[in-house]
Amino acid sequence: MTDTLTPVLTDTWDAEQGWKLATYAAKGGYAALDVAFAQSPDDVIATVKDSGLRGRGGAGFPTGMKWSFIPQDNPKPKYLVVNADESEPGTCKDIPLMMGNPHVLVEGVILSSYAIRANKAFIYIRGEVVHVIRRVQAAVAEAYAAGHLGKDIHGSGYDLDVVVHAGAGAYICGEETALLEGLEGRRGQPRLRPPFPAVAGLYASPTVINNVESIASVPAIVKNGAAWFGAMGTEKSKGHGIFSLSGHVARPGQYEAPLGITLRELLDLAGGVREGHQLKFWTPGGSSTPLLTAEHLDVPLDFEGVGAAGSMLGTRALQIFDETVCVVRAVLRWTEFYKHESCGKCTPCREGTWWLVQALTRLENGQGAEEDLDQLLDQCDNILGRSFCALGDGATSPISSSIQYFRDEYLAHLSHGGCPFDPARATAWA
Ligand code: NAD
Ligand code: SF4
Repeated sequence: MTDTLTPVLTDTWDAEQGWKLATYAAKGGYAALDVAFAQSPDDVIATVKDSGLRGRGGAGFPTGMKWSFIPQDNPKPKYLVVNADESEPGTCKDIPLMMGNPHVLVEGVILSSYAIRANKAFIYIRGEVVHVIRRVQAAVAEAYAAGHLGKDIHGSGYDLDVVVHAGAGAYICGEETALLEGLEGRRGQPRLRPPFPAVAGLYASPTVINNVESIASVPAIVKNGAAWFGAMGTEKSKGHGIFSLSGHVARPGQYEAPLGITLRELLDLAGGVREGHQLKFWTPGGSSTPLLTAEHLDVPLDFEGVGAAGSMLGTRALQIFDETVCVVRAVLRWTEFYKHESCGKCTPCREGTWWLVQALTRLENGQGAEEDLDQLLDQCDNILGRSFCALGDGATSPISSSIQYFRDEYLAHLSHGGCPFDPARATAWA
């Protein structure tokens, strides 16, 4: 690997039994606890604020600022909840992180809980990934046995209990307030925000909810300092992150690198688009971020750079599609996913995603007329900004961006009377 990579979260993934406490401790694991316990919780918050760490779940909200919103004059207990319900199509960073190094997450949970003065933390893991749940449970048990969790951790007087909770397999439970509903034993549907969870979250108590990778980034920041982290990345998107390359790429996988790296640089590390083929379109952060094309190969993959290109950094789930892929079919598959996962609480998303699937299916089958494209965009307009949560908005992203860049391909479906990529139609789309 080249100097472009910054293996911090991924550095033990290839080690023999890299997930065990002994391996993590041999690399200095859990040493950050004593650094933090020698400081006040507010000092730890200040360090994370100064580092510039922004939420790695997709939205990029400043992590230290979120922690500072926890009202310390509120007598209710404070909670930390780790959002490990990773399920955005193409997103596959938190699951390998928890498999490869669960202890960096557990150490991050202890540091973050100490900072916000929480004595109870929950790790909410997507229910289908039973192997991950078992691995994190085993890591938590090892941490208790070694005195890193429980009463009077490291003789500091600080107590923390951690619960590993299995979700029930609904995409919407990755939305933070739906996750809280699920954790409280109710059907997973989003709550109105504000109040944000920092003010009224789990059991109506002040709660910090952070993504796995955000929390796992904290031990190295506490150990090495805010300046160390801030020296990586770009001015407003600091530090390192895991970029997940999937699809038509020679060596798919996780590449940990500073924010601001470009897809061209990542493709160089990953052996390029598969041999003999060219990049057609890609997602910067999973299917709910607008598609980009080969003209965006040099866009800096940070919150500002991807935003300026008309998309969003999201979860850095870089799905690569070459020229053999029908963009209409790909978009239809994603839209079927959103229709299936819509929680049904609000009309624009519940009804709108159903209509989007109908319209896209007709177009994919070569039925309809050019005006249907404008009607499809009109449906997107009626969902975007009118849905109760980000799921509805996200469902429109691949549709409107694909029409922006590949309108001709939609029209070719109409002129061919069906998908021009279908082998049954010999006339290849060029
Ligand atoms: P958001 O911008 O509304 O909120 C981000 C975070 O900041 C939340 O924790 C929120 O509570 C907090 N926050 C925002 N404003 C606040 C305020 N004024 N006071 C206190 N706290 C505040 O984004 P979101 O709707 O929570 O998440 C959307 C993101 O989720 C998208 O960017 C998408 O990339 C990502 N996503 C990820 C997955 C996955 O599998 N990891 C799946 C779907 C979507
Ligand atoms: Fe539920 Fe969709 Fe409305 Fe979100 S946007 S509340 S997922 S129906």
